[in-house]
Amino acid sequence: MRIVVLAGGIGGARFLRGLLAAAPEAEITVVGNTGDDIHLFGLKVCPDLDTVMYTLGGGIHEEQGWGRADETFAVKEELAAYGVGPEWFGLGDRDFATHIVRTQMLAAGYPLSAVTEALCARWKPGVRLIPMSDDRVETHVVVDVEGERKAVHFQEYWVRMRAAVPAHAVAPVGAEAAKPAPGVLEAIAAADVIVFPPSNPVVSIGTILAVPGIREAVAEAGVPVVGLSPIVGDAPVRGMADKVLAAVGVESTAAAVAAHYGSGLLDGWLVDTVDAGAVAEVESAGIRCRAVPLMMTGLAATTQMAREALALAQEVRA
Ligand code: GDP
Ligand code: CA
Repeated sequence: MRIVVLAGGIGGARFLRGLLAAAPEAEITVVGNTGDDIHLFGLKVCPDLDTVMYTLGGGIHEEQGWGRADETFAVKEELAAYGVGPEWFGLGDRDFATHIVRTQMLAAGYPLSAVTEALCARWKPGVRLIPMSDDRVETHVVVDVEGERKAVHFQEYWVRMRAAVPAHAVAPVGAEAAKPAPGVLEAIAAADVIVFPPSNPVVSIGTILAVPGIREAVAEAGVPVVGLSPIVGDAPVRGMADKVLAAVGVESTAAAVAAHYGSGLLDGWLVDTVDAGAVAEVESAGIRCRAVPLMMTGLAATTQMAREALALAQEVRA
């Protein structure tokens, strides 16, 4: 079985652990979000790709959900001693090495997809991880700063401002001119099932779908497309999905997110058992829906979620 997953960071990565356990024989291709990428200290940082790579490769800081385990911050402290920031973005010493290797390879002319493959040769994530595009795409968020409306980098909104100010709009800058990375459209066309993990529908999966050709390829793949809601009990399990959903005019409910993707894209949708009341609404929108536990409290629970997603795919295929 060939499975394609469009993934952001933590939600996508944790779900993938369950999917690997639920379908150990499957060939899994992960199309990763690069809209969160940022240049810091002259280095190219790809937070979502690294979260998937570290989580599946055994290097992740488990509690935090991003960054390396057993991390130290000597480089960051030394940079700060020079007055060189930003200080609001946490880059640890071990993590720095990844960004140095990546930046060095990019400077030597390798595309991001080849660099990601090289980094994964060390981590052996058990999936094929491909960035959505080799071209630069940067998610910007429109906010009011001191009475002035302006667009800031997603990381500035999320990490620096802690999403504490209202987001008025979200834009994947550069997406319209970006091309899917080599292998992305091929993997989607060859898939037996396509899965939207419980990743952020706007700034993770939404950004991937904004790369011209990807949304169309998913819609036209002719195989089941099933998703799992990142919204449980009308709120994101963690993060700021509610804020960026509001920015695009979508309510923070499991049903509204399904409708946002739409029946043109989604065939099946899993909501948490606390949202069982939303099943009828999702089904009336032409999307097969089931309520099952969707809290990724550990590998067993997450594996069961992946099994439910694959079962739902079977059901819509029949
Ligand atoms: P990010 O790039 O690190 O923000 O990660 P993703 O976009 O992949 O995932 C973020 C989303 O994961 C958030 O909207 C959360 O609500 C969702 N999420 C995190 N943990 C869980 C969980 O245990 N269950 C569900 N259903 N969603 C979760
Ligand atoms: Ca992210």
